Amino acid sequence: MTTMESLIGLVNRIQRACTVLGDFGGADGGPTLPTLWEELPSVAVVGGQSSGKSSVLESIVGRDFLPRGSGIVTRRPLVLQLHKTEEGRQEYAEFLHLPRRRFTDFALVRKEIQDETDRMTGKTKQISPVPIHLSIYSPNVVNLTLIDLPGLTKVAVEGQPDTIVEDIDNMVRSYVEKPNCIILAISPANQDIATSDAMKLAREVDPTGERTFGVLTKLDLMDQGTNALDVLEGRSFRLQQPWVGIVNRSQADINRNVDMIAARRKEREYFATSPDYAHLADKMGSEYLAKLLSRHLESVIRARIPGITSLINKTIDELESEMEHLGRPVAVDSGAQLYTILELCRAFDRIFKEHLDGGRPGGDRIYRIFDNQLPAALRKLPFDRHLSLQNVKKVVSEADGYQPHLIAPEQGYRRLIEGALNYFRGPTEATTDAVHHVLKELVRKSVGETEELRRFPTLQAELAAAAYEALERFREDSRKTALRLVDMEASYLTVEFFRKLPQEVEKGGNPAASTIDRYSEGHFRRIGSNVSSYIGMVSETLKNSIPKSAVYCQVREAKRSLLDHFYTQVGKKEGKELAKLLDEDPSLMEHRQQCAKKLELYRAAREEIDSVSWSR
Ligand code: GDP
Ligand code: MG
Repeated sequence: MTTMESLIGLVNRIQRACTVLGDFGGADGGPTLPTLWEELPSVAVVGGQSSGKSSVLESIVGRDFLPRGSGIVTRRPLVLQLHKTEEGRQEYAEFLHLPRRRFTDFALVRKEIQDETDRMTGKTKQISPVPIHLSIYSPNVVNLTLIDLPGLTKVAVEGQPDTIVEDIDNMVRSYVEKPNCIILAISPANQDIATSDAMKLAREVDPTGERTFGVLTKLDLMDQGTNALDVLEGRSFRLQQPWVGIVNRSQADINRNVDMIAARRKEREYFATSPDYAHLADKMGSEYLAKLLSRHLESVIRARIPGITSLINKTIDELESEMEHLGRPVAVDSGAQLYTILELCRAFDRIFKEHLDGGRPGGDRIYRIFDNQLPAALRKLPFDRHLSLQNVKKVVSEADGYQPHLIAPEQGYRRLIEGALNYFRGPTEATTDAVHHVLKELVRKSVGETEELRRFPTLQAELAAAAYEALERFREDSRKTALRLVDMEASYLTVEFFRKLPQEVEKGGNPAASTIDRYSEGHFRRIGSNVSSYIGMVSETLKNSIPKSAVYCQVREAKRSLLDHFYTQVGKKEGKELAKLLDEDPSLMEHRQQCAKKLELYRAAREEIDSVSWSR
């Protein structure tokens, strides 16, 4: 094989791989990104219905495998890739929609094309733009990608929608307007070239004629006494590429099963013995057309090598960073798996701590609880109601019992204070809960932000569950500790405070007057206000100590030992369970495999292209 042959083969292989990997930038919808496929040249056959398109393709391939005949036969685009194999190898065909099934009987290939067409369109005369992909591997073909398209028509026939003429036109156009598309414009010689649909469309999309090959079929069907020399010698229609005349099998030949070898021989004889075309015989016929195309393709590819190389390099870069992002496949031995799991946990832990310590947002919300929510909740406690004159009287009298207090209502004070302290339980628990929710939210966030974890949904879920469980334990501990602070306030009152209270008894000298005073409103109001300032003092203390206990029990613990339990559990796991933790998202695994395949392909392509460009 020459280097050029191998290069075209390579282009073909890349195109095939692009197709298999779904990178096909064809007319089947979807965003048509400038994929490698589009950077690579291909050959599309265009022409009016029954002009002989499928017949030309077949003779280029040298095999009978396409449905042919009158009326609309080709109803979906057929992307046909020819791969030259080594001499002596068996020929076979393969469809993209039937991977791993090798067709060696080409009659079955034809049947499958028909069936696959019907699968999409039903047994109708309708068309579909979804291409059928077929590869042929043979020592007898040249490396080429050919696209067979439905024939251009002028009117809808029975069973076709009114838009069919336009639909076909659009579909064909979507292929041939790509600058990398080489147009094989087929016109039948038994019609006036001025009416050729193929030439009309080719003119429009390739005005300079640099990528259009004019092919004249049915030379054998021309009226006696006429010839097509004006066209074949370029006088009727100027193109930059030479015109090629073809004689395909007639419908009668097809019906008689005239084989390809006989058909080619007949075509050669036709030109060699034709009084009109004998002087052009070595530049006519399907074999010549195949060589011409292959040669043209070579020059196109040569010119495109820099573009292709840079696209390949760019794609490799993209794929490499994608692979980086997707991560390496998971190790198989359990030691390495355990190591991976711990690494992942640590990565999560780092991010979680950054949220708390700053660097990432969220930790500040805990301070806001202490600075804002807690004081506000404390302020809102209903001490006014609790220390209303009425309630003070009631509590104090009840505490006194049948014997009213003589000097100060010791019991009354205690009960009023205990009652008030009870109110602190609410904000205390609310603070613990609020801190808990912030921590939980930060765990959730951190799990999401740990890039490395993204591949492992199982580990993600289990790690999060373990962290939530730990936070739950910390909350319980924190709740108990904080409530204990409140209880402590209730169990021993600050003596100092009461000692400093002004003694109301020794005011006047009259004990009787002061006795009366003791049961007046002023007396109870004073008690209320004393209790209120005591509670105020306690509130100040708790405002400071509740945050301390929440940080000590929840935040500090979360930083220190959030995953401790999880580590112990993981450490006890056996090989299989460890592997399970590292189960990956199946779609991601698939994606990585695809990526790896593409990368391999593109790297091989780069190497081959490099070697070809150097050997020039
Ligand atoms: P398509 O619709 O353009 O794909 O055309 P086909 O390849 O299906 O051919 C349409 C009909 O024209 C078939 O019956 C072919 O046998 C016949 N045909 C095509 N090319 C030639 C030719 O060069 N000579 C003769 N005699 N018949 C041809
Ligand atoms: Mg056809």
